[in-house]
Amino acid sequence: MIKKKLFIDGAWVDGCGGKTFTSINPSNGEVIAEVAEAGIADVRAAVAAAKRSFYETREWRDMDSQARGDMLLKIADKIEEHADEFARLDVIDMGKPLREAACDVDDAVHCFRYYASLIKTPHGGYYEVNTGFGEMYSYTVHEPVGVCAEITPWNYPLLMGVWKLAPSLAAGNSVVFKPATVCVLSCIRLFEIFEECGMPKGSVNLVMGPGGVIGDELAANPDVDMITFTGSTEVGQSIMRQAATNVKKIGLELGGKSPNVIFADADLEGAVEWAMVGIFLNQGEICSAGSRILVEESIHDAFVKRLVERANAITIGNPLDNPDMGAMVSESHMNKVLAYIEKGKAEGATLACGGERYTEGECAKGYFLRPTVFDNCTSDMTIVKEEIFGPVVTVQTFKTEKEAIDMANDTPYGLAGGVSTSDGARALRVIKEIRAGITWINCYNPAFNEAPWGGYKMSGIGRELGVHGLEEYQEIKQININLHPGVLGWYEH
Ligand code: NAD
Repeated sequence: MIKKKLFIDGAWVDGCGGKTFTSINPSNGEVIAEVAEAGIADVRAAVAAAKRSFYETREWRDMDSQARGDMLLKIADKIEEHADEFARLDVIDMGKPLREAACDVDDAVHCFRYYASLIKTPHGGYYEVNTGFGEMYSYTVHEPVGVCAEITPWNYPLLMGVWKLAPSLAAGNSVVFKPATVCVLSCIRLFEIFEECGMPKGSVNLVMGPGGVIGDELAANPDVDMITFTGSTEVGQSIMRQAATNVKKIGLELGGKSPNVIFADADLEGAVEWAMVGIFLNQGEICSAGSRILVEESIHDAFVKRLVERANAITIGNPLDNPDMGAMVSESHMNKVLAYIEKGKAEGATLACGGERYTEGECAKGYFLRPTVFDNCTSDMTIVKEEIFGPVVTVQTFKTEKEAIDMANDTPYGLAGGVSTSDGARALRVIKEIRAGITWINCYNPAFNEAPWGGYKMSGIGRELGVHGLEEYQEIKQININLHPGVLGWYEH
């Protein structure tokens, strides 16, 4: 069995209380790792190490941006060298199919390379101004924020971490990082690579264990200058409240209940295919999942018939064998999704396919679900309103464009949304009206390192990825220069 420790101030250590937790392979229920559990004293030690590294030793912060970029490139190369190992760690820890995990690793490599190139490129602003106070120049510099705490969920164990670590480190911050307790292995491997590559002592710290304890401490600790969090909206709200203690900078990537709107003039096969990617990729454990399909009434029957045929053809199995869908992350999460399915049936939705655990062959030992389509849904149903975070999609119909837009926006969330139609003008009209941060036309779910990712409404604050993703981890300082030093004469009467 793998045994792993916390990484604090450049050393691998046990938790102060000597406690450990185990990691379980969700495709067979076997224990795969025993991991040191951090207590509050460990979190405080990690924050203190990051603070020393940023404010006293300053090695990472003061390294010139070319050298910092080179370090990120070195880290990217090392991840790439061990790509297969990283992918397999996410598969056995989280349950996703191997080829999806391999794509995540590839994205992680390119995320480090993207932010390496961005930090090597000059940015900031320069303005010639005349203010009435004399001739002046004004320019801006971007500086790191300081000590950043970063908390991530389990659905993309490596990638969600890299979306935070790559830009925050590129900017020169020192970091305390906490991955989700159920899936820690690929992030531990990443910190081993940080160590091998020679990241300065205290610049990167890894604490693991219960979110309620560690996360609370990180959110409330006055020596943390910024906290970024990806996870559920409820926990995001709690972090936001606690971050108020010292007015931390904050970044929140939260939940979603995103609409996928299909018009009658859409390419039917294409729309069904993208709807499948929208909801069944990663077992539906995706924040941006197109979990509410809104289909124009006139094509409802044909669309649902084809969707059900395709969903029933999805292969499920050992994720290392590359089925279409792997295991749910844990037994408790599987049971949570099953409870939603029961609720859907009880509230009168029509179960068109799936709706149960998948237990064939070796899957009997793991936590697998069949892809599930609920038809004839209405806006008041729990399965239409709440994020399920599994392979469960609801289908509702609309008659007019206006009705489709109103239904799409009938949610407190605003993370993502999609539109399928062959009418280009309508596609743009509808997308413009959807109150969400990430939208797709005639496709669903692709994401890019270069483009900002984040939510409207209760789906979050701020953006990850792209140039915005770097600027989230930077303070912007305005510097104003008087070109004619001397007495201004403002107070002469
Ligand atoms: P979660 O909120 O339960 O946990 C996320 C992280 O927060 C974990 O590391 C957890 O240990 C920690 N945590 C738990 N309680 C905490 C507390 N009180 N204070 C601080 N940290 C705490 O979410 P999850 O189940 O890991 O992930 C699923 C959720 O994440 C879904 O809602 C999904 O939509 C969201 N998500 C959002 C995005 C996005 O980009 N917007 C991406 C992926 C996942």
